[in-house]
Amino acid sequence: MKKTVSFFLFLFILFLPFQVFAERRVPILVYHWIDEYTGVGPKDLYVMPKNFAEQMKYLRDQGFTLLTFERWQDIDKVNKPIFITFDDGYKDNLNVLAIFEKLQSDSFKPAGTIFVISDFIGRSNRLSRADLKKLSDSGLFSIQSHTATHPNLTKITNYSFELKESKEKIQNITGKPVIALAYPYGSYNDKVIAETKKYYSFGITTIPKLYSKQGIKDENYLIPRIYINYSTSLKEFANMVGE
Ligand SMILES: [Zn+2]
Repeated sequence: MKKTVSFFLFLFILFLPFQVFAERRVPILVYHWIDEYTGVGPKDLYVMPKNFAEQMKYLRDQGFTLLTFERWQDIDKVNKPIFITFDDGYKDNLNVLAIFEKLQSDSFKPAGTIFVISDFIGRSNRLSRADLKKLSDSGLFSIQSHTATHPNLTKITNYSFELKESKEKIQNITGKPVIALAYPYGSYNDKVIAETKKYYSFGITTIPKLYSKQGIKDENYLIPRIYINYSTSLKEFANMVGE
C-alpha cells in the first residue's frame, strides 16, 4: 500500500511541472495591407511584401506550423502552431498568395486567414469575388468574416445582417464554411459575444497577447491577436512569436 502511494506521488511530482507548463502559447498575428506604403491609410497597418516574405521564411526555418481556424484542435498536436490573419480584405493580399506559393514545399505548407468585410467585396482596393474564390481554391487561405459593413458591434442592433448574412455571402463565394468572426476595431461586449455564438465557433479580438488555453467562459470568443506593423523588424518579429 505504502509503495503504491509513493509510486503515485512519484508520478504526480514527475508530471506536475509538465502539467503546469504544457499549455501552449500560440501566436495569432494580424496584418492588414501587404504592400509598399502608398500614402493611403495609417502607415503602421502596412507591411512591405519583402518584410512579410522574410517573416514567413523565418517561421518556415524555425519549424512553425501555420494553422487556420478549421484546424483549431490541432494546436496541441502540431509543432509550434501559429496563425497568420489579415483583416479588411485588401486587394494587395494577393501579394500574400504569391509569397505563399513561392514558399510552399513538401515540408512547409503556408496558411492564412483573411477576414473579409462582405459588403466591401469588389470595391476598388478590395478583393473581388473572383479573388476570394481563387485564394480559397489555392488551399492556402481560409476566408472568414469581418462583418458586412465593419461597424462597431457594441453599437448596433442588426446583428442578423452583420453576422449571419455576411457569413452566408462569403460561404456562397468560397463554398466552404465560415466559422470565425473578427470583431471590427476589436470591439465586443457580452451582447456581441452572445450574438456571435449563434453563427460562429470563434470570435477574434485584438487583445495584444499570445493565446493560451485558460478554461475561462467564452474563451473561443475572446481570441487575442498580435499586430505586426510597418516598422516591425525581423528581430522583433522573432521575439513576438517566440523562438
Ligand atoms: Zn477591420
